[in-house]
Amino acid sequence: METILVLVHTDSEGQLPRAALEALTAARQTAAALGGAFSVGIVGPDVTAAANSIASCGAARFLSVSGEAFAQARYATDAAAAEAIARAAGATLILAPGTSRWARVAAGVAQRLGGRVDTHVTGISGGAKITRWYYRQRMEATLTRAERPWVVLVDSGCFEPWTGAAGTASMEAVAVTLSDTHQRTSVTGFQAPSSDEQTIRPDAKLLLVAGAGWTKTQSDGKTHVPEAAKLILGFLGLTKASLGSTKSLVDLSGEGQAVLPFLTHLNQVGQTGATPRHPKGLSTCCHGEEPHVVGWRFINERRAVNLDPNCGWARGKADVVYVADAFAVISKVNELLTK
Ligand SMILES: Cc1cc2nc3c(=O)[nH]c(=O)nc-3n(C[C@H](O)[C@H](O)[C@H](O)COP(=O)(O)OP(=O)(O)OC[C@H]3O[C@@H](n4cnc5c(N)ncnc54)[C@H](O)[C@@H]3O)c2cc1C
Repeated sequence: METILVLVHTDSEGQLPRAALEALTAARQTAAALGGAFSVGIVGPDVTAAANSIASCGAARFLSVSGEAFAQARYATDAAAAEAIARAAGATLILAPGTSRWARVAAGVAQRLGGRVDTHVTGISGGAKITRWYYRQRMEATLTRAERPWVVLVDSGCFEPWTGAAGTASMEAVAVTLSDTHQRTSVTGFQAPSSDEQTIRPDAKLLLVAGAGWTKTQSDGKTHVPEAAKLILGFLGLTKASLGSTKSLVDLSGEGQAVLPFLTHLNQVGQTGATPRHPKGLSTCCHGEEPHVVGWRFINERRAVNLDPNCGWARGKADVVYVADAFAVISKVNELLTK
């Protein structure tokens, strides 16, 4: 019989991030499939609000490590907290959200517990069988492990976040003895673009992909890069979509050409780029070549705007292709969205 623990941490507001609620769903489903119970372990400066928000989730135990030392995403204290909770729970199967905070410590915690770790897990079925992708999302494997404890980091976007009534969770505090060494690293702050400058939005409902066509000579014999930038940023501002790009376009940016300054290689979608997850995608001025489209594996509904009726999207890669000028289309869409 597995002893299941879902291990989460609070966010900067003292709440549970969406990824934690998704991991909670994964734990509930796994416990139900195995016919057993599960416990929740929470780490943070003050975990009361977070624990109460999931009081009715059905966990048999709520274990916590809290205190100011656990406010920071710091390897030494996070690993110590996770290890202490896992030991207190006697966990054999530890599910945790694949947040940057847990991704940093998961392997170390598994090592300390004498267990194993798997990351980027996208599904759990039949009890303790996990699925994950290999070789840049080309091969999907279903696997299980004999070793315990088994730490499983669940990718976000793969499970529905748990929702339910708040209440009063009955907490069990787990003691962690910290020395000065544990706390010699200090997180002094975060550097992140403001939300308007931030174009990669993993939780967005829509992915807008900008291709190199935005920078190409148009029917009037000229390029219109500043106008392209305005249209794309206008669309993003109005829809809060996430921005993806093709390799051709980000390569141009990297070479210092006057292209779209807000694009970096982090925006690149495809074989040598990212494989984002969004319910819908709109490709603009992108040819839809396979090395790019392979990155759309997890985009459910796909539409494309391209002048070329023979572009790759028109060959069965999109649900809808608009054979049209993307400048005209996005301009009109922005106008309609502004009304
Ligand atoms: C090993 C390898 C790995 C690669 N990895 C990736 C990857 O990870 N991601 C990736 O994106 N690519 C990747 N590529 C490159 C990929 O094969 C293509 O070269 C690239 O995706 C093309 O980018 P694009 O469609 O933006 O540009 P183009 O091929 O130049 O297409 C521009 C498109 O814009 C259209 N257009 C122009 N003006 C307008 C307008 N006004 N309105 C509407 N449409 C317009 C044109 O009709 C054209 O179809 C890889 C290639 C290799 C060999």
